[in-house]
Amino acid sequence: MRITRVSTAVVQGNFPWVLVKVETDEGITGLGEAYWGVGVAELVHKASQVIIGENPHDINKCYDLMIRCLSGEGSLAGATVTAISGIEIALWDLVGRALNTPIYNLFGGRFRDRVRVYADCHAGKSPEPADYAERAQEVVAAGFTAIKFDLDTRNPFTADISEDLHPRRQWFEPFNRTIGTAERRWMVGVVEAVREAVGPDILVAMDCHWKFAVNDVLKLAWDLEPYDLLWLEDPVPPENIDAQAKVTANTRVPICTGENLYRKHGYRELIEKQAVDIIAPDIPKMGGLMEARRVADMADTYYINVAPHNVSSPIGTVAAAHVCASIPNFLVIEFHAHDVPWWNDLVDGEPPIRDGYILLGDGPGHGMTLNEDVARAHLKPGTSFFGDGP
Ligand code: MG
Repeated sequence: MRITRVSTAVVQGNFPWVLVKVETDEGITGLGEAYWGVGVAELVHKASQVIIGENPHDINKCYDLMIRCLSGEGSLAGATVTAISGIEIALWDLVGRALNTPIYNLFGGRFRDRVRVYADCHAGKSPEPADYAERAQEVVAAGFTAIKFDLDTRNPFTADISEDLHPRRQWFEPFNRTIGTAERRWMVGVVEAVREAVGPDILVAMDCHWKFAVNDVLKLAWDLEPYDLLWLEDPVPPENIDAQAKVTANTRVPICTGENLYRKHGYRELIEKQAVDIIAPDIPKMGGLMEARRVADMADTYYINVAPHNVSSPIGTVAAAHVCASIPNFLVIEFHAHDVPWWNDLVDGEPPIRDGYILLGDGPGHGMTLNEDVARAHLKPGTSFFGDGP
């Protein structure tokens, strides 16, 4: 069997989901997904040129070929690696279908047949802690047993802080990374309200989006220790792993990071220095299924757990879940698409996420079949549907 063609369809969800189809001379195809980003679809076409004619079973060889041949495009990290991730995932789906077995069997089988999902709730409808609590209760009522909120709303590009009347505007200081006492009180108030609303058994994580200085975030973390957080995510800027390690070593709140890292090399120092308690690789972004498996294995040697970041369509999400099922140190995987009512409809059959879990069946590959009508209806304007159209 030989790879004959690779094409993309960019479906406009809450992000532009870059779906990747790999075709062969035997008529067997695979469907993958690359994390969104400028130039990713173009880089899929560029990367695919070096694997046309290869045997699709040689996935690791194809991956290395693409990484090495696209060094000039930047295959250490970034959009090139993301594009290659989408092709790699399609190849695993293809090989699973060729062998009539689920991807998790190709990764050594399952530790679990259902994969726990956490819901990213973003924020309350207002900054009032009571509104965060209400949102938490809604999401838990929908069946999720793990949730996450953004604990910072200081992104100058988000609408909520640009409103003059926003009660947090008085604290807004984007550049010096401090957390004022009033701001810290607000943050602790949000966490307290959410914990009280959902009770002790729901897993609750909070995301800081790389905003804060080490000492400021440590004061915050110490104040949050009574609320038994699942993790505090990206507390400090990402460039300095020693600073990250200082935060992790000095609080009982588990610290999580890793959604913007690429390939196993991108995680090595973080893991070796034990600068985090939990890592959050974005699998359709950081290198794909096998690369995520390699990172998970490296993390497991330090007893670090894995909680993949995920903003994908059902294709990328469920493909990633096959790796989650096959590693011992999996914790939860993200669901980020509450704002996309047709998320489930993009694939045929039962909804991929039911009662807060992804249930992995016995179907070959990742087990998902794209609903082409739904995909075409939400195709990014001006783009082609797997080579059909503009
Ligand atoms: Mg995050």
